[in-house]
Amino acid sequence: MPEDNGDEKEFECPVCGETFDTESGLNIHEGQIHPNKRIDELEDLVDTFEDETEKALDIKKEKEALKQRAKNLKHEKEELEQTVKDLETTTDKLKNGIKEKEEELDDMKSKVEDLRDDREELKAEKKSMNREIDNLEEEKQSLENSLEQTEQLMVKLKHQVQEFNEELDE
Ligand SMILES: [Zn+2]
Repeated sequence: MPEDNGDEKEFECPVCGETFDTESGLNIHEGQIHPNKRIDELEDLVDTFEDETEKALDIKKEKEALKQRAKNLKHEKEELEQTVKDLETTTDKLKNGIKEKEEELDDMKSKVEDLRDDREELKAEKKSMNREIDNLEEEKQSLENSLEQTEQLMVKLKHQVQEFNEELDE
């Protein structure tokens, strides 16, 4: 094939397969033989552009939605943090309350212990006082006995004195 130099003709028409030496040759061929091809290409380009624009809009919308979601999540997180803070404060208050109650309880317990000790002491004291009362009563009884004996003796002596007097008077 002498007229065909193989690689020389590199520009092939995508519609009909005819080959050309130069790009401008192919362009002229396409413009004359396949005028609709340019229009189709342009339409394809417009379609692609519209698709891309729609996609870009979708992406933008998605981005906005994500932004809003992030904002909402941040707000929720802040609210949760505030709730946690409040709960921590409540926990501290409760802990302090429990501590106070424990201290009050310890006070009460030691007071009861003291009262118990006091009661034991009072019981012992009462016992010894009762013993003392018994002793005092015994002493009183013996003093009364002594008094009685003394009075009897006095009456006897008075009587004797009177007898003496009478004897002297005679
Ligand atoms: Zn062609």
